[in-house]
Amino acid sequence: MRPPILFPAFTDIKAIKGCGPRLAEQIGRLAGPHAVDLWWHLPSGLVDRRYQPRLADAVPGRIASLHLRIGQHQRPRSPRQPYRIMAHDETGEIALVFFNARPDWLARTLPEGEERIVSGRLETFQDRLQMTHPDLIVTVEDWPAQEKVQPVYPLTAGLSPKVLGRIVAGALALAPDLPEWQDRAFHERQHWPSWLQALQAAHRPAEEADLSPLSPARARLAYDELLAGQLALALMRGRTVRRAATPLQGDGRLVAKALAALPFSPTPAQSACLAEIAADLASGKRMHRLLQGDVGSGKTLVAALSALTAVEAGHQAAIMAPTEILARQHAAVLQPLADAAGIRLAVVTGRDSDKAKAALGAALEAGEIDLIVGTHALIQSRMRFRSLGLAVIDEQHRFGVHQRILLGERERAGDGPAHLLVMTATPIPRTLTLALYGDMEVSRLEGKPPGRQPGITSMAPVDRLDDVIDRLRRRLDEGAKAYWICPLVADEDETAEQAAAEGRARMLSAVLGADRVALLHGRLKPAEKDAAMARFADPDGAALLVATTVVEVGVDVPAASLMVVEEAERFGLAQLHQLRGRIGRGTAQGRCLLLYTPPLSDVARARLETLCETDDGFVIAERDLALRGAGEVLGTRQAGLPQTRLADLAVHGELLAAARDDARLIMTTDPELTGPRSAALKVLLYLFERDAAARLFRSG
Ligand code: ADP
Ligand code: MG
Repeated sequence: MRPPILFPAFTDIKAIKGCGPRLAEQIGRLAGPHAVDLWWHLPSGLVDRRYQPRLADAVPGRIASLHLRIGQHQRPRSPRQPYRIMAHDETGEIALVFFNARPDWLARTLPEGEERIVSGRLETFQDRLQMTHPDLIVTVEDWPAQEKVQPVYPLTAGLSPKVLGRIVAGALALAPDLPEWQDRAFHERQHWPSWLQALQAAHRPAEEADLSPLSPARARLAYDELLAGQLALALMRGRTVRRAATPLQGDGRLVAKALAALPFSPTPAQSACLAEIAADLASGKRMHRLLQGDVGSGKTLVAALSALTAVEAGHQAAIMAPTEILARQHAAVLQPLADAAGIRLAVVTGRDSDKAKAALGAALEAGEIDLIVGTHALIQSRMRFRSLGLAVIDEQHRFGVHQRILLGERERAGDGPAHLLVMTATPIPRTLTLALYGDMEVSRLEGKPPGRQPGITSMAPVDRLDDVIDRLRRRLDEGAKAYWICPLVADEDETAEQAAAEGRARMLSAVLGADRVALLHGRLKPAEKDAAMARFADPDGAALLVATTVVEVGVDVPAASLMVVEEAERFGLAQLHQLRGRIGRGTAQGRCLLLYTPPLSDVARARLETLCETDDGFVIAERDLALRGAGEVLGTRQAGLPQTRLADLAVHGELLAAARDDARLIMTTDPELTGPRSAALKVLLYLFERDAAARLFRSG
């Protein structure tokens, strides 16, 4: 139950004086339906009316508040002309200009012969000073009480700044003083105001500096939001992780056999991650671990050997991949290892018939399958395991949902608490990792397996297309294999992407020969996709794969060393990095050419240049974050990135880390949340609408 002290926060904005239904709807669309939504609707600027020059010194272009004596009203002679009112001080004269104004209102507001303070932007017209539609006209007596600095709020069409400002002020008047939930020592060190003071100050900026996200008031509010998020994650995590899970203690027997069959041995980084995972599996607590490793860093092997450990311990393992192609490829890579270890491997994807799935399900339930690789079909069909010990989710960001949703599905499916390993190659900046995965342990697979040459990435305008194709032909003649990536179509319209890919494939077939070109896009039938991949993977098959971004994830054809990406500026940086991760996996040096359509904006150019300069996914991710802001880096919605309203992850990274640490500390020192801080923390969670987490509080 929401604490009563927060009832005002969730007042319907319609209850605010002056906010009728139409206005409430507009504001609701802009900010949200409750007072609290307006609290979080912080000013994006300010109007400073403290500049009060005499007319002789007044600088055109600035906002000024002028002490004027009102002179003659000059009514327009035609409706297209403005209504002009002359006014002066002892140093000069100015015209106040009104279009479509109501004369009676003007007569009342600016009576001839009286003094007024008139505030607005100064202009010149035919070398004479004027002010069009002053923002503010007050009497000399009322001026001292007037707010000289006014906040400017982000607006939506049809909403007037004055009206919105008034409603926000009405909402702010409802804000109660709330108990302090921040750690006292931390709060003192930051020299931050109390919550209420911070809220009020954030809405009453006096200087440009007060608008900075790092100003004490804004930083405090941002921290509160981050703390609420991290605490909610920690609480959820407490629920999932603290749950006991079967300890999986492997004896190394199957892992040893698989390793003996491998042409290489694990890198030190792979071994380190494997050790962390083995310790989790054996701990008796449910593992909840993220394995983060750049494209090509060798995550598959870590997943495979972890799965073997689960099987050694007498349980089953499942590896879920985002696409059909990837699931099949995993199965192909894992088969020799499974054979060497003598375990039973199966694959399931959406294309399997219901009958085949039922048979697989029965075999799983009977314990006749040790390791299963599959797509979503793994959790969608009602597959039951005899004893699922470890679930691995590969490239989890591609599932387009937060892993917890998947987890929820799993739990509903009644599979019991399996250990969970989530793998991602999206090089997420540290700060975003915390926001997305603050509730998980993180293993980082640093570096790449030995023997890789760093690839070369360059960029060129698309008008050099003929040249590019010429050079490509020469490389293919020398035996190279290449990917040709077609432009991304807005909204992932697969039909349009298909058309683009087919068109390009036709054109390239005409130039290079049809037998050398294979085509892959999302709308092909599964068997056609397989055939295309097989032709491309075959050393004597197609040398060029024209494809949409379906090859983005995980596809591994080591012989491919070249890649051309069309309209590269339309892709996300992380996505381009993933794409080029497809090449240079073998002995030949990878070369990636980013074609763009000029003119490029500065940001677009900087982004593509970043890719040309570095091959380090984490550096790329950090720069992308700085260039574009958190929301866009991963595609906020898709990646399940929490929508922050006060915190900006590109700026408040350190605060996020502090919030994470604080949340963890709270969970270790007061896991039942009964201590003195807990009542205030509960208010915090409800304030940021983390109701589900707040309800996990034991105390009332
Ligand atoms: P990703 O992390 O992108 O999933 P993969 O698991 O597909 O990367 O591995 C990329 C390539 O590196 C594969 O061809 C794989 O066989 C190879 N590889 C993995 N581990 C090693 C290793 N320890 N030594 C050499 N090559 C390795
Ligand atoms: Mg992979």
